Amino acid sequence: MSNENNTTQATETAQFPSNVLPKNIDKLTAYSSAKSEKLTGTTWLNANESPYTRAYELSRTEFNRYPDPQPESVINAYSAYVGLSAKQVVMTRGADEGIELLVRTFCTPSQDSIALFAPTYGMYKVTADTHNVAINALSQEVLQQSDVSDIVAQIGDSKLVFICNPNNPTGAMVSTQKIAAIATQLQDKAIVVVDEAYIEFCPEQSAVSLINDFNNLVVLRTLSKAFALAGLRTGFTLASEALLAPFRKVLAPYPVASVVADIAAQALSTSNIVSMRRQVGILNALKQRLSQWLQQSAAVNKVLSGEGNFVTLQLHDKSAITRAYERGLVMRPFTLYGQDNWLRISIGSEQELSEVKAWLDSLTNDNQ
Ligand SMILES: *Cc1c(COP(=O)(O)O)cnc(C)c1O
Repeated sequence: MSNENNTTQATETAQFPSNVLPKNIDKLTAYSSAKSEKLTGTTWLNANESPYTRAYELSRTEFNRYPDPQPESVINAYSAYVGLSAKQVVMTRGADEGIELLVRTFCTPSQDSIALFAPTYGMYKVTADTHNVAINALSQEVLQQSDVSDIVAQIGDSKLVFICNPNNPTGAMVSTQKIAAIATQLQDKAIVVVDEAYIEFCPEQSAVSLINDFNNLVVLRTLSKAFALAGLRTGFTLASEALLAPFRKVLAPYPVASVVADIAAQALSTSNIVSMRRQVGILNALKQRLSQWLQQSAAVNKVLSGEGNFVTLQLHDKSAITRAYERGLVMRPFTLYGQDNWLRISIGSEQELSEVKAWLDSLTNDNQ
């Protein structure tokens, strides 16, 4: 193809004058999410999405009016689902917006910090960086193995403490007793944020019931994973009324589109919650099967199998990832513990996982 018609299509993005940009923004690199990388493929196991689909119909067809800022039917259904009062639930544009609102509400830019336990979900750092809030990067090892007073000492004067539970991408869990003990020691000092994006895969380990005992504890939830609605962009921030009062001041006036509220209410019907739980049972069983295949494969060095709808593993040879792309199989590569040969595989359908098995077999079979 000729380039002649493409003279305006610059190969390099023009630089915006950095004297106009704040320094923290100038330094950012655009977040590369699983979806933004424009990969081509046929089997998508890179974003921890659900393989299940369901058709939704809109109950309204007119949109000339602004929506309900916090749609009552959704708030009531979600508060019943988690066993909290409606006043302890805020609906947001994904759990990601909850993360952002927490940083904007509770951190003073260029003064405060957030604590996190690496490796963990990338958006805590991205959000802090964009708001000029510092990061106190602790390790998962500290969270798992140190005692509470030591953890609290290392948290220091960080304002928000993000505990991803189950942790993405390691699948590790920390007990609700330990979370409660950390929140106790941080009372009147800092807020513990428990990100439960994957909690439906291990619901008995939720920290939600602690919300009635702690003013400084937040739980983040989403409809993107077990509820199979990543495209809807819906999450929930759960906390005491006192904690949510300043949070609500920072929330945009109309954060939830009426079409989103309509679909979210349907997704939270009793019958849909029953089918979500049935799907979780199937996905958890498939995860066991995938972990076994990986543990038995000579191409795999280490498997981190934990909770959540994903398995993370270390390959012996990173080129196996290219072999997967060649088969149309898209999984999520990671650099963990300084090594770039890690891969996270989302639990898809049985058919999709058989593509993973075929790829694994091809790696160790010379006569492929
Ligand atoms: C997927 C994910 C989210 C994002 O949820 P959205 O509701 O889609 O914004 C938040 N936290 C963790 C740990 C996740 O893996």
